[in-house]
Amino acid sequence: MAKRDYYEVLGVEKNATAEEIKKAYRQCALKYHPDRNPGDKAAEEKFKEAAEAYEVLSDEQKRARYDRFGHEGMAGPGGGAYHAGGMSMEDIFAQFGDLFGGFGGSFSSGFRQSGTAHATNRGSDLRVRLRLTLEEISTGVRKKLKINKYVACEECHGSGAANADAYKQCPECGGSGYVVRMANTLFGRVQTQSACPTCGGSGKVITDKCKACRGEGVVMREEMVTVDIPAGVLDGMQLTLTGKGNAARRGGVAGDLLVEIQEEAHPNFMREGHDVIYNLPLSIEQAVMGGQVEIPTLGGKAKIKIAPSTQPGKLLRLRGKGLPIVNSRAVGDEIVVVDIHIPSKVTSTEKEQLHALCQEGGNFAPTAATPTHSSLIERLHGLFEG
Ligand SMILES: [Zn+2]
Ligand SMILES: [Zn+2]
Repeated sequence: MAKRDYYEVLGVEKNATAEEIKKAYRQCALKYHPDRNPGDKAAEEKFKEAAEAYEVLSDEQKRARYDRFGHEGMAGPGGGAYHAGGMSMEDIFAQFGDLFGGFGGSFSSGFRQSGTAHATNRGSDLRVRLRLTLEEISTGVRKKLKINKYVACEECHGSGAANADAYKQCPECGGSGYVVRMANTLFGRVQTQSACPTCGGSGKVITDKCKACRGEGVVMREEMVTVDIPAGVLDGMQLTLTGKGNAARRGGVAGDLLVEIQEEAHPNFMREGHDVIYNLPLSIEQAVMGGQVEIPTLGGKAKIKIAPSTQPGKLLRLRGKGLPIVNSRAVGDEIVVVDIHIPSKVTSTEKEQLHALCQEGGNFAPTAATPTHSSLIERLHGLFEG
């Protein structure tokens, strides 16, 4: 099924403000909330769709990218490792739970309860930025990141207890690991179950704490994490490394490591989606006579032919010399924009020669009327639309 337009999903205009988007999302989320539509798969899909739309449109950078490139700009088809497309219910509540007020939180813990016998505690996510050159992006690259994060304490194997007998039953939940509360929500009084705050869902409390981690079960360590970056990633794209974030206190599931891609500016190229643009300055002689010139590409140098009487602004396309498209075999192009080099300094001899060359009646003489030609920007636009 084709993805719906995110603005359409939330029912807002393309120029909607952040506040309008937030309000629209809140309305959608409440309308399709699983607690209001129990067992309704269609509502659940709509709920997820709205969350995905909100995730993108509420983030200035992501929104700008979406406006420019559409869904393709957010992730590759079926973009497995990428966050956009396919958010789980847990993701949605973890990220946007605060928008639902108290209701979202209680629902969230209830949702987790259904999956596991005990509410599990989860380590927090870590975010890092990774700067990449266009060359690295064009081939894909393996990077080692040095990360300071919480890991399970080696002494107590993450339990936080000094030894195996240093436990007693949790007095608050009586060992069940969860507490039941009545909560006032938008939909009336609802009974909610949540993880016991005293024992964190384990049903046990520690009587004798591990000395190495002071009972936390985690210690701060520097760790090397290897990340494989697929070729063709976009600036601002986020890769999720499941379970590579902070370890949870006293056991539980580790958080994720979120790696945000930052593309470095390139001395030769400007990126436009999967294409790269190269500005080629020709001398007047080269432009008039034509010939062969050497130009840089992402994979090394290439020779191209310049036809005689090449006009400034002419676009030459080198197929397949651009950037790969993530999760696809397709590769973008390098687009060469012909420019004419006009010197900023000329000697008096050069001035005389130029003057002689541009005499009235000659081929270099100025024409009476210059034909209106579309600006370079318009032409580039046409190129990318076509
Ligand atoms: Zn310990
Ligand atoms: Zn407890």
